Amino acid sequence: MPSHTESRGSLAIVGLGPGRTEYITPRALKAVAGADYVIGNALYLEPLEQIIKGKQVIRSSMGKEVERAQQAIDLAHEHRVAIVSGGDAGVYGMASIVLEVLEHSGDEIEVEIIPGVTAANAAASRVGSPLSGDFAVISLSDLLTPLDVIEARLDAVFSVGIPVVLYNPKSRGRPHNFALAIEHARKHLEPTTPVAIVKNALRDEEEQIITTLGEIEKSEQAVDMHTTVIIGGRESRIWRMKDNVKGIITPRGYHHKYVY
Ligand code: SAH
Repeated sequence: MPSHTESRGSLAIVGLGPGRTEYITPRALKAVAGADYVIGNALYLEPLEQIIKGKQVIRSSMGKEVERAQQAIDLAHEHRVAIVSGGDAGVYGMASIVLEVLEHSGDEIEVEIIPGVTAANAAASRVGSPLSGDFAVISLSDLLTPLDVIEARLDAVFSVGIPVVLYNPKSRGRPHNFALAIEHARKHLEPTTPVAIVKNALRDEEEQIITTLGEIEKSEQAVDMHTTVIIGGRESRIWRMKDNVKGIITPRGYHHKYVY
């Protein structure tokens, strides 16, 4: 591969948010609208059908991320390229692999990383304020991280009692990782700890379940790869309006300082 020093193109690494187009930032939309080539997973490109009409669209599938990153970089020497991820591209998305491949190539191209609303933020917004202060995010996918490392991280974050957001909670290839995560949570947290299961947050067919760590098995069948699970921390509690369960509140601690 020749090394290009001068480049006429550009590469935008774009986070498209959780799904519905109204949750895409104007900057992300502008980058996609201004691109000659749009590269991404078919699922994420679907809501953008109108905007990407007439462009060169490269639909990619899971497991081809390295090839996709290389292709984006090759094209970005001469063309305006947008490579898209759901949520934020820097959170279990394409940003790191694109930057690593670019770094390895020694090429110089114009790169912009455009942030998006993550699944953690989207899911949390549908169930109150469960992540009000410190929290942790752990993916249960062991495709790129060994399971023993994931388990060590789960144990560590649950032990300090902060809310934990579980990404990639379950799939056909690894149906047991979710049960393992629950086991680790139960070592450190009370059975009354609130848990939110949010499926398709800010997308069609959205679903939310509020339960507790002690009763989560009753709702486990709802957990799949379109789901983000939030396990509350030591301070988290169920949020009610009248007698209805609305979600989870994790107090930030104002009650220690103020009377309200
Ligand atoms: N880059 C993305 C995460 C990709 S990993 C981000 O920043 O959000 C894929 C996982 O994200 C899914 O298995 C699921 O756990 C979560 N996820 C993505 N979109 C979601 C949505 N709309 N609702 C609930 N969970 C979602």
